[in-house]
Amino acid sequence: MALGEFELIERYFRVPAEARRAARGDVPLGIGDDAAVLAPPAGQHLVAALDTLVEGRHFVPGSPPDSIGHRALAVNLSDLAAMGATPAWFLLSLTLPDPDEKFLEGFARGLLDLAEEHGVALVGGDTTGGPLVIAVQAMGSIAPGTALTRSGGRAGDLVYVSGTPGDAAAGLQLVQRAGAAPQLDAAQGQWLSDRFHFPTPRVSLGEALVGIATACVDVSDGLAGDAGRLARFSGCGLIIDAEKLPLSPALVAYAGEPGARRLALTGGEDCELCFTVPPGLADALAARLVNVKCPVTCIGELTADQTVRLREHGTPLRIDSTGFDHFAHP
Ligand code: ADP
Ligand code: MG
Repeated sequence: MALGEFELIERYFRVPAEARRAARGDVPLGIGDDAAVLAPPAGQHLVAALDTLVEGRHFVPGSPPDSIGHRALAVNLSDLAAMGATPAWFLLSLTLPDPDEKFLEGFARGLLDLAEEHGVALVGGDTTGGPLVIAVQAMGSIAPGTALTRSGGRAGDLVYVSGTPGDAAAGLQLVQRAGAAPQLDAAQGQWLSDRFHFPTPRVSLGEALVGIATACVDVSDGLAGDAGRLARFSGCGLIIDAEKLPLSPALVAYAGEPGARRLALTGGEDCELCFTVPPGLADALAARLVNVKCPVTCIGELTADQTVRLREHGTPLRIDSTGFDHFAHP
């Protein structure tokens, strides 16, 4: 017998979400009524983000269900992290072709494991039939006037990126070609595909950047594009030093060094943060990051002109019509 909507919500979402909701203590009413009732911390501002994943567009049909659940929440937590917010609650809109229990079990596990890791509570949602589409709305809080924006950067600010961008894009390529990459050992292949399937939203990094970073974006469309957007919103130009890009050993093994740099600059799907810090606060940043388990790397700086430039050891690199695709050798 097909699982009804009520049983589905009850079994996969309400019951597992209940303990987390109780633990938070700021959800007077969660899943089960017409709407959730939430108790934001007194004096804080609410921060909200929503991202939708469509099968075939944002994930490969047949992706592991736990990866789909993880990514649906991860991309939203990443958006909150880019604001410096502390995440608290989320809503889930689930459109399913059929109530496949194997899918639901894996999906709910991937989603709720990540929720557990970050102490966020699923407080409600909607369930309908149709092509597989997942939308999550995440909400959190921040002290008034302290949110990190895209527009606060100033010429001379140092530009940083977290983690090792490009890994997720390489992981997606591996998944699409079903894993055939003889240049990689098993651990390297696993690392790259995991960075695509289970990206890490940089929540504690975002929180630590409040009061230090002048601007921040999350890297979802490629580092060069997103950093360029930050620069434009800040009324600045940008210079990226290609030799400073943090490349994972797996990415270099997969694509070679020029290819790895190209993926790091143009690959999407990472949940990394790109942010700017005035040079005078670089030491304060390092002190803040002692307790944040996330590497960050300075890759360049904002400039007073309006252009986005790439250089290697001081020599300009050509940027052709396809973006940062062409690495001319000096
Ligand atoms: P309504 O018809 O009033 O919108 P629903 O039957 O859609 O009610 O939902 C009943 C309850 O279950 C609501 O509290 C809703 O927030 C919750 N809910 C529905 N779908 C989901 C889901 N996919 N995940 C979490 N909660 C859900
Ligand atoms: Mg409804």
